[in-house]
Amino acid sequence: MKNLIVGGGLLGLCTAHALVSRGEEVMLLERQKDAGDETSFANGGMLTPSMADPWNSPGVGWHVLRSIGDDSAPMLVRPQAFPSLISWGIEFLRHSVRSRYERATRASYALATYSLDETRKLRESLGLEYAVGTRGTMKVFRDQKTMRAPLALARMLEQQGMSYRVLDRAQVLEVEPQLEPIADELVGGLHFTGDESGDAHLFCRALAEDVGTRGANLRFGVEVKRLIANNGKVSGVETKEGGFTAERVIVAAGSYSTPLLKAVGLHLPVRPAKGYSITIDGSELDCDLPTIPVVDQGLHAAVTPLGQRIRVAGTAEFTGFDTQIRLARIQNLLALLEGLYPEIAVRMNRERIDPWAGLRPMSADGLPFIGSAHLQGLYLNTGHGALGWSQAMGSGKLLADLICGESPEIDSAPYRADRIRPPKAPRESKTAKPMR
Ligand SMILES: Cc1cc2nc3c(=O)[nH]c(=O)nc-3n(C[C@H](O)[C@H](O)[C@H](O)COP(=O)(O)OP(=O)(O)OC[C@H]3O[C@@H](n4cnc5c(N)ncnc54)[C@H](O)[C@@H]3O)c2cc1C
Repeated sequence: MKNLIVGGGLLGLCTAHALVSRGEEVMLLERQKDAGDETSFANGGMLTPSMADPWNSPGVGWHVLRSIGDDSAPMLVRPQAFPSLISWGIEFLRHSVRSRYERATRASYALATYSLDETRKLRESLGLEYAVGTRGTMKVFRDQKTMRAPLALARMLEQQGMSYRVLDRAQVLEVEPQLEPIADELVGGLHFTGDESGDAHLFCRALAEDVGTRGANLRFGVEVKRLIANNGKVSGVETKEGGFTAERVIVAAGSYSTPLLKAVGLHLPVRPAKGYSITIDGSELDCDLPTIPVVDQGLHAAVTPLGQRIRVAGTAEFTGFDTQIRLARIQNLLALLEGLYPEIAVRMNRERIDPWAGLRPMSADGLPFIGSAHLQGLYLNTGHGALGWSQAMGSGKLLADLICGESPEIDSAPYRADRIRPPKAPRESKTAKPMR
């Protein structure tokens, strides 16, 4: 096999698509039964170059410290996660220095804009259906102070070509009339006209079907146990079903990329940042539904219309690989919905909402890892954190360009995968089962 991809979420599938489009032979191994069934399943649904800023903004350390043990905090660290967060946390804080934060924001924006363009092109060429919204996204504010930082960010990204509008209360209501019941509480908003929205899971399914029909070998229900590394070279993977050899192994396993790489001596600074969502069937509500994603910056949460469904998603919790759904965090999302759309909150049946939790693969410096990574034959496409949907298509294309020796359309340097520490002595692994 020429290219073996580990992971069938947004990043693995977009990589598969880009490689197949270049005529490359591709096998993709995914442990779940179908495409996009982990973190790419029920995310916020927004494609937002406008939110390119990494989470480690200047002053983030203080916010995180204050959150410890507070279930209502938008960003929360659970004590059991401390040991796994020490070295990662130091890097996370080191990158919250303003100059680094701004550099990462610009690079993240460049990738997200490129990616959104590629997503649009693909949608048009294949006629993909994934509950697309093209009216942009909107942040709304209840006081001028909360608006300051998002406005400064918008001005910064405007220099890179982002379009946005500053809205007064009346203009907020023109963009989203469904906010009328809380109009008195709002002072204004920001409308990011170039953003989009859509259901990432539907997109994954559609993309899997497309790459499958174009020759990629997608294997579901196959868990990769370890990467096979010998003499500084990765030559395949080992699974319960036996070994698979490949010229290139591309790790796109979300947060689980970190343990996979650790076994070959690479310490990937990516940790799981758990987030939650609830999905409500709007067709049962008998009222007008939201028409554009609306973001509450303070809660790190958003309400996104996805066709007839409403997705409320957000909050961040560092709690290792635990995906258990905690009621208190769901309550936070319900409170957000109630605060923005009281009429929907009154009408909906709380027994019938779909709660979900997923693990964002969060890098310490706020940027993903795309490219080759120290060991010959090893490539990464992971660490996209809160922007994996926004950056998926662009990341897949960028990696395929690097792999195939073509000139990337954007500067690939900020996302280099070899910025992680090289292994001290590349570990070797034995193959227990026959190779295919
Ligand atoms: C609450 C929430 C809201 C979000 N909202 C947005 C948003 O609005 N916009 C945005 O851009 N991003 C958003 N994100 C982030 C985005 O969802 C993620 O960045 C993205 O889904 C990551 O995709 P991935 O392919 O890297 O990981 P995943 O989707 O997790 O895919 C990795 C795949 O690898 C498989 N895998 C792992 N280990 C193995 C193994 N050993 N063998 C075989 N298979 C394996 C997993 O089963 C999984 O399917 C949100 C995330 C959360 C949690």
